[in-house]
Amino acid sequence: MNKPKIVILGGGYGGIITTKRLEKLLKTNEAEVTLINKHGYHYLTTQLHKVGVATAVDRQIAIAIPQLIDQRKTYFIQDEVSLVDINNKEVKLASGKTVEYDYLLVALGFEVETFGIPGIKEHAFEIRSFRSSKAIYHQILKQFELYKQDHDPARLTFVVAGGGFTGIEMVGEFIDAMPKLCTQHGIPLKDIKIVAVEAAPSVIPFFPKQSVEYTTHFFEKNHIELITSKKILECTAEKLLLENGIEIPTRTVIWSCGVKGNSIVEKFGLQIEKGKIPVDPHLRVRGMSNIFSIGDCSLFRKNENSALPPTAQVALQQAPVCAKNIVASIRGEELKIFEYHHKGSVASLGNWAGVGLVGKVRLSGLIGAFMKQVIEARYLFNLGGLSLIVKQHFGVDREPVKVTAKE
Ligand code: FAD
Ligand code: NAD
Repeated sequence: MNKPKIVILGGGYGGIITTKRLEKLLKTNEAEVTLINKHGYHYLTTQLHKVGVATAVDRQIAIAIPQLIDQRKTYFIQDEVSLVDINNKEVKLASGKTVEYDYLLVALGFEVETFGIPGIKEHAFEIRSFRSSKAIYHQILKQFELYKQDHDPARLTFVVAGGGFTGIEMVGEFIDAMPKLCTQHGIPLKDIKIVAVEAAPSVIPFFPKQSVEYTTHFFEKNHIELITSKKILECTAEKLLLENGIEIPTRTVIWSCGVKGNSIVEKFGLQIEKGKIPVDPHLRVRGMSNIFSIGDCSLFRKNENSALPPTAQVALQQAPVCAKNIVASIRGEELKIFEYHHKGSVASLGNWAGVGLVGKVRLSGLIGAFMKQVIEARYLFNLGGLSLIVKQHFGVDREPVKVTAKE
């Protein structure tokens, strides 16, 4: 008898952990598992801001997928998914190949939301993937070199747009990175201007007041120019335009004003709500018994009025349940209901400070930074055990992944 074919689209947080769980749950020869990802590596999205300013080396953020999976149990295809044909149960790839499935998991992640604001797509930089984050670093170095020729202060003005978690983490990383980068490239640190812009009256407006105050004070102490209550209206190659006619001359805008589901899922002929794939309590795509979806491209409703947020925490809790439910579907067993348990949120402000809320406990400063590192280490442990943590931190026994920045 033919073995059922399980195909996983996306090797991000949701996809890779589901794959690893399936490797454990499936009996020998019970099913064929194929993982498809655009790149040959898995990147730690939660640390991409570090890639933008090179406060982490590539090896710490991008890990070759063949090193993470059991290649006797999972077949990995590096390719870009271009379409899913649900009638013929086929996935079409950019290379022209077609992959058949019996069970499909769509875990294709997020895309940056630009809200149609003019010039963002063309001129702003995104913290979306390893390559897009690498492009930020190259842009900084390029502006340093050009500044040496024309002394245009706009070249040393770096704007972080959006004061949510991504935005504050990016600013924190700039604070840590700039002294070293300036020394390395012969740029006076005093000439660097970092600007943070947020439309709401404060950064991280959804977080406790004390955390907002801590972050604001931290920015002030580190000479960050913080502009709040001003919406960004347009971006050009030479400036950022805000409400009230405010203009910021700059060549580098890092856009972190929110995310949406990967728009490719809209082409699959599945039901779409708010740009995402709505799923049932078992993480199955509504109305489909053989297609599952988790993570940022899926919509899991807690109740009529609210859905789970696009976080790694959600994707990582969904992955093991999804793996169990795929196996249960194959075996004709009862499926498990997914229940989300929020464990708290912690955001870094560089390597030595952070803010967080875990249960009712607020964290700030060094303890916040420490907690964030514990969370990251825990993920690495789940991904590849203690040996991966050691390899990640000390570069033992690992070829660096070779990646070029997206221009
Ligand atoms: P992803 O991890 O984005 O994975 C999607 C995968 O699909 C990627 O490997 C991508 O290459 C691949 N892919 C995309 N399109 C295609 C295609 N067409 N064909 C083939 N492959 C494709 N959340 C937290 O809970 N805690 C944090 O501390 C945190 N920090 C963050 C920091 C930053 C800077 C950012 C940007 C986000 C952060 N998040 C955090 C959010 C978190 O990273 C996402 O919610 C999480 O990555 C979602 O996991 P996912 O598996 O759905 O998607
Ligand atoms: P977000 O939606 O949480 O924040 C975006 C911010 O940009 C908001 O504060 C919004 O007011 C602002 N904004 C939107 N449009 C604007 C405009 N035109 N002008 C100025 N400001 C504008 O998005 P994010 O920070 O990218 O986070 C995306 C997801 O990833 C969230 O679910 C977040 O929780 C998660 N995340 C988590 C962590 C963490 O836990 N440490 C870190 C990063 C991201």
